[in-house]
Amino acid sequence: MGNARARLSWTNNIAFRDTFFRAAVGIQKSGVNLLKLFPIFVVVGATCFCELASERNVELMRDASGHCDRETFVIVLDVGHTPEAPGAISARGIPEYYFNLRLAEKIKGVLVARGFRKIYRLILHGGAESLVLRSGEAKRLHADLFLSIHHDSVQPQYLQEWTFRGKKLYFDSRQSGFSLFVSLANPFATKSLQFARFLGSELQNKGFRFSPHHAEQEARTIIDAAGVYEYNDLYVLRTASYPAVLLEAGVIVNPYEELRLETSELQLKISNAVADAIQKFCESPE
Ligand SMILES: [Zn+2]
Repeated sequence: MGNARARLSWTNNIAFRDTFFRAAVGIQKSGVNLLKLFPIFVVVGATCFCELASERNVELMRDASGHCDRETFVIVLDVGHTPEAPGAISARGIPEYYFNLRLAEKIKGVLVARGFRKIYRLILHGGAESLVLRSGEAKRLHADLFLSIHHDSVQPQYLQEWTFRGKKLYFDSRQSGFSLFVSLANPFATKSLQFARFLGSELQNKGFRFSPHHAEQEARTIIDAAGVYEYNDLYVLRTASYPAVLLEAGVIVNPYEELRLETSELQLKISNAVADAIQKFCESPE
């Protein structure tokens, strides 16, 4: 955000200096004594300077009033896991990666419809090395916000065995709901937490329930009632040099929740909550 504005001011300065220089060279070539025109240069220069200053004031006023430039705000939607290492397996045997991919596509569509222009889906291949690549790619794209999209499971000891279409699979119908994670070790911890709060509130406003099972099963600390956990060492969050949040959109080892998450209607509802939160975050002052 800030970078884009800084670039704009710098470009204006260069254009102004260039025009001034060309005008001076042109007059000199025409044989007119530049010294005689000095008072005119002073007046023109002062006027241009005032215009630049007032432009800068407009930028500052926009900041204070929460202007959000949807053309330049960079959103990185990280599709959690890879086809080779697909994460959790749903109650019906579908790998988490495909849920993440579908939801990221839906979120991107909603954001585009709302006028955001710089949305990147981060889709990677391979094993654990993809974690390092994720942070590097998001940094290269100058992310203003990094949202990692996942779907949840439970700890293995809580899973029960069942057979679905002749295949031995695992489920737990007791847990359901979304979870959000931030790393307080991230240099943008305050902004990360701010976005997580916005997203948790938007999801709850739309009727989604937060799942406290990470506190019960892994003793994770809930740092905000909007449904936010602290997860300081989570690699993609800890190593991020931008605000970063991980969303577990729902529990796919729950056979009932899995079916709901597969519907386009629910995916759209989650996507609208994400877009509402991003809009709020983009509009909030630095
Ligand atoms: Zn995951």
